[in-house]
Amino acid sequence: MNTTIIAPATAMAPGAIGIVRISGPKALAIAKEMTSIKEVKPRYAHFVDVGKTCLVDKALFLFFKGPNSFTGEDVVEFHLHGNPHIMSEVIEMGIGLGAVMAQPGEFSKRAFLNGQLSLDQVEAIADIIHAKSSRAARSAVLSLDGALRGRVEDFQSQLMALRVLLEASIDFVEEDIPSLTPEHLDAHLKLLYKDAEHLHEVSSQGAIQSQGIRVCLVGRPNAGKSTLMNAICKKQVSIVTPEAGTTRDVIEREVAFNGHTITFLDTAGLRKTENEAEAEGVLRANQLIQSVDLVLLIHDATDDKPLEVEGAKAPVWTILNKVDLLSKQPQAKQDCFAISAKEEKGVDQLLSSIVNRLSLSVQGEAPFSARKRHVSILERVKETLKSLNSQAPVELLAHHLFETQEALSEITGVVTCDDVLGEIFSDFCIGK
Ligand code: GDP
Repeated sequence: MNTTIIAPATAMAPGAIGIVRISGPKALAIAKEMTSIKEVKPRYAHFVDVGKTCLVDKALFLFFKGPNSFTGEDVVEFHLHGNPHIMSEVIEMGIGLGAVMAQPGEFSKRAFLNGQLSLDQVEAIADIIHAKSSRAARSAVLSLDGALRGRVEDFQSQLMALRVLLEASIDFVEEDIPSLTPEHLDAHLKLLYKDAEHLHEVSSQGAIQSQGIRVCLVGRPNAGKSTLMNAICKKQVSIVTPEAGTTRDVIEREVAFNGHTITFLDTAGLRKTENEAEAEGVLRANQLIQSVDLVLLIHDATDDKPLEVEGAKAPVWTILNKVDLLSKQPQAKQDCFAISAKEEKGVDQLLSSIVNRLSLSVQGEAPFSARKRHVSILERVKETLKSLNSQAPVELLAHHLFETQEALSEITGVVTCDDVLGEIFSDFCIGK
């Protein structure tokens, strides 16, 4: 944080404007040396010549004095002409004067560490940049505006209020403090659980909306997974052969359907195998089953051997494939679809069902964007609150409520470990 960082803030590609940003204690000194500027007024667009020995570009020079800047530090922005060579030259000039090239996400990391933004807001910035639909972008803007943080903080206040009552009954037993009756306590805990459940549900919707849905295709070798993948993607992305064990790596494709982005993952057929590459593929398939939003278990309808998947946290739908080979069509059942991937029959209905079932719960737009990280913290919080019993010792209840408050702080970043921060910011692009 003692260093002064520099990076392009817009794409290094031809365009009307290309922005180079500098942040840190020496930002102003370095930027001044790069230009003809004498007097600098904060938050004022100066028109300057950029270049120490020769004119590199004519540009706008904007100075934001810390802490009133994005990073909370002194920041200078050069609005150059959008030419990658000019932008590179300006960046090299800054580095020559003592700035260092910023790491991915370093501007945002500084904004977070300097208390300009909470962690969920910083994540919202990345989600705005990478949003795959205008709906997703809008809900990410709401998160940047503090919608998720506000909900989390409100919930923390509710936890705090109950903790205060519990702690008071522990510390001031002798005093004349209105006691918390078991009925009241029970009602409080139930209300907290209901609220946690709601927050978890809305966040899951926000995560689905901003991150899309991940669906993996699993099944025995030759069940028709790759054929289905190709039918869904409307092109040959996976190799189809009558030979078992061809798909070994996970094949990933994004498909846009009715305004939603669904990522489909084709996996190696589940079977015991001596082949090392195939065994690795099976291992990856089993890992994916645990992390996706929906598992499609593909069966060859002509093969009546049952197959079950283990460890799925998401719904598992059975897909009876190759029904074109059956003389009698199977009966429709809940979470069971009959299709012919080869003849592309039933594939669009399957896609509609995925969108309807997984995102219908999103009534209109999610009120904020969220990430899996937030959803899993809220899941933990919900489960803890569910397990609380009003008959338990008051000290224990107070302790669990404290832990729940702390867990929620991981969302906003009040409590976070460096590993989590590293993971979050490594996702960012340089200059953000
Ligand atoms: P995977 O190993 O599960 O990925 O299976 P593939 O997609 O490679 O298909 C295995 C074999 O089944 C290939 O010969 C496909 O042409 C055939 N197949 C896949 N889907 C269907 C289907 O719906 N009907 C019929 N008749 N054959 C299919």
